[in-house]
This record gives sequence, C-alpha cells and structure tokens, in this order.
Amino acid sequence: MVPEAVSRDGAAMTRVVYVNGRYLAYADARVHAEDRGFQFADAVYEVIEVRDGALIDATRHLDRLARSLGEIAMGMPMQRTALGHVLRECVRRNRVSDGTIYLQVSRGARPRDFLFPGPDVRQTVVCIARPASRAAADARAEAGIAVKTMPDPRWERCDIKTVMLLPASLAKEAAKAEGAREAWFVDTKGFVTEGASSNAWIVDEKGRLVTRPLDVDILRGVTRTTLIDVISRLGLELVERPFSVLEAMGAKEAFVTAATNVVTPVVVIDGVRIGGGTPGPVSRRLRAAFHGEAEHSLPRWPGSDHLSLE
Ligand code: PLP
Repeated sequence: MVPEAVSRDGAAMTRVVYVNGRYLAYADARVHAEDRGFQFADAVYEVIEVRDGALIDATRHLDRLARSLGEIAMGMPMQRTALGHVLRECVRRNRVSDGTIYLQVSRGARPRDFLFPGPDVRQTVVCIARPASRAAADARAEAGIAVKTMPDPRWERCDIKTVMLLPASLAKEAAKAEGAREAWFVDTKGFVTEGASSNAWIVDEKGRLVTRPLDVDILRGVTRTTLIDVISRLGLELVERPFSVLEAMGAKEAFVTAATNVVTPVVVIDGVRIGGGTPGPVSRRLRAAFHGEAEHSLPRWPGSDHLSLE
C-alpha cells in the first residue's frame, strides 16, 4: 500500500484521486500493471498551481497538454470542459486551498507491445490534488536556493512534457547530495538548457532578463510564458538567448520558474554565490508581481466553467 500522502512540510493529505472517471480513496487509486505509462513512459502530464482554491494558468496548462498529446500522436482524453471539471472537482474534494494539481494522461493499458494500441484502448487519466504550504515556498524563495549543474542527458524532445522523468530524478538526487535543491542541465557547448523541473533565468549586468529561447531542448514552461507577460508589463527587458554556467555565476541574479515554485531565486551555483548570496530585487519583484498577471480560475461549484477552459 502507498503511504498516506502527507506532504513534506506536513500539510494535509490527499484524500481522493481521480482515475478513469472515478474518484477513488487515495489508498485505492491505481491503474493497470500493463499501463503504457508504467511500461513505456508513454504518457504526458501537467502540474498546475492551486492558490486560494483557484487553478493558476489552467488555460495555458491545458493548451500545453493538448500540444504534448498531439506530439506523441494522442488526442485529448475528454473535452476540455470535462477536464476542467475534473480538475476543479479534485481540488474541491481534497479541500486544497494552496498546493498543486497533477494530471497525467497515458495511452492506456494492453498486453505489452512497442506498437501503439488501436483506438479501442482507452487512455488512462489520473488527477491528484495535493496541498502544499505557501509559507514554506515563500520561506524558500526568501532564502534562495542552490543549484548544481550537470550535463543534460535527456532526449531531443524536451519540449514534450512526458513522464520520462528518470534523468530529472537522478539529477535532483545528485544535486541534493551536494546540498542543492535543483539541478541545472548544461548542453555540450556549456550553455544551460533548463532545470530538472524548472526553467532557468539570469539577470545580466544591465538588468536584462535572460532565458534560453524555446526549442526542443527545453520545456515551454507555463510560468516562463506568464513571466514574460509580467516582464513586459513592468517595462523590463527580455533577451531570449542561451547563457553559459560561467555567465550565470557572474550574473547579478539568477532564478528558476515552475508552477510549483513560481519564481525562486538561485543564490548559489556549484558552490559559487550569486549576487552576494541573497535574492536580488528583480527576482523578488517578479515573484511579487506574478499572480497579478496569471489567470485564476476559481473552482466554482456546481459545474460552472469560470474562465476559458473551453
Ligand atoms: N522545465 C522542466 C523540465 C519542467 O519539468 C518544468 C516543470 O515541471 C518546467 C520547465 C517549468 O514548467 P512550468 O512553469 O509549466 O511548471
């Protein structure tokens, strides 16, 4: 049996998990042993922030889900309205005020075979809402985090958000062993691609925000996309170009973005302190402004579809 889902910072439990049309007790939430997500990592996913009970940037997350599915020759498992309904119902049933919602879609289960199953095989859909402490995340951002760099071992389609997360898991373990919270992957030319589960940014000497341009080497982070809107609203300058580890070490500021941590300052890279070793003003300002720009869709109930989840 899976241990009860108490979050690391002691927040409340996940009670109910959505699996293929049913809301199951956490302990009973399971998929088939021959699920292709399990055997082939033949599945994609999304993690959406929940804040004050609202889904943050759900439209962009569902857009990206549809794209990821399309890139691996799958369609949406249900209408967007229905998916939005499931997401909100998971949040509601688990009484999540602050936390995340995890949504995974696999190609379904059938006797193991590399070739895709036919259209008779139903996709597997799992949705897990999990509380998390906003205070703990804020404290982490207040202190800043350390990152460890390492060669990027992943495949050539990192723009697809698949569950093929072993490289990220190994990288985070290696980072943790050296006291770092995140790993930064580096390409063969010495440029940072992205974090193991985040996009990577620096602030250069002129105060410009620098992040790698979108290509198949990185995921189009929803937080990255919304942050670009924030940057433009604040009248700051954005430069989408690769940066090296050395440049990052000499940058004024560095930070990571992800739905689970919004904007989190990086204060140490491979043991080298960045910008004096404390979070800088630009990262702080962007973090503070983020939720003013992001879309908030409230889990109004019953069944109303607030905002554009169509
Ligand atoms: N890059 C990778 C590899 C990720 O796994 C993630 C999030 O999990 C991100 C970037 C950030 O994406 P988002 O801002 O949509 O959470």
